[in-house]
Amino acid sequence: MNELQIKDLHVEVEGKEILKGVSLDVSKGEVVALMGPNGAGKSSLGCALLGHPAYKVTAGQIILEGEDVTKLPTNERAKKGLFLSFQYPSEVPGVSMANFLRTAINSRRDKKNPIPVAEFIKQLKEIMKMLKMDESFMHRYLNEGFSGGEKKRAEILQMAMLKPGMAILDETDSGLDVDSLKVVAEGINKLMNPGMGILLITHYQRILNYIKPNKVYVMMNGKIVKSGGAELVHQIESQGYESIKAITQ
Ligand code: ADP
Ligand code: MG
Repeated sequence: MNELQIKDLHVEVEGKEILKGVSLDVSKGEVVALMGPNGAGKSSLGCALLGHPAYKVTAGQIILEGEDVTKLPTNERAKKGLFLSFQYPSEVPGVSMANFLRTAINSRRDKKNPIPVAEFIKQLKEIMKMLKMDESFMHRYLNEGFSGGEKKRAEILQMAMLKPGMAILDETDSGLDVDSLKVVAEGINKLMNPGMGILLITHYQRILNYIKPNKVYVMMNGKIVKSGGAELVHQIESQGYESIKAITQ
């Protein structure tokens, strides 16, 4: 089943059309790569999917598990299992990572049935270990003073704890050194399961050396210009985005 269906999505920011009719599908159990050069509109798609108010959907639909969520507010989409990891995660001074995560998990559970603290801590420690994050991070304010790589690990930690049905990971590889990239990519591979779909946004093929996508879409200038299998990644790597454009036109 298609966890996420995007149908002919048009999105405007400040009166300017950024996405010009984007259609793509992500099924459960699939990693779908969305590639494209800087400025193609990839992050804008992520923001529109999560319902950021600055990204106005002027036409088209976003369907999550068969339900049209195009007009739902962000928190409702999150409750339905949509997760977005940001290209530039924000710092949240005054809120520890553990508190942030516990609140986020509980907001998606029945009010009378919050996650037991011991169970929460146990899960948190296990996943931090897998992501090679020091336990002291759980008490630190979310992203405050985190290095680029630590912020990215913190995003994957959030995904692991929230267990979304559909995760959009925006440039999770940017700013990571080779060792951190491996840890993060292996973490994503381990967390991948038949109940989750991942839309992996990247302008660079590097992370796709570690995570094998089931499908690849290429976006340029607000449109999907090509889709295919993992072979597209190699074509982009060796010949660049211009080669895709040349074939498509
Ligand atoms: P990508 O993630 O593929 O590099 P973006 O989605 O960040 O591309 O940007 C696509 C285009 O939309 C760019 O021209 C960018 O300047 C514009 N854009 C995105 N977000 C905003 C915004 N909040 N305000 C104004 N312009 C924006
Ligand atoms: Mg981007």
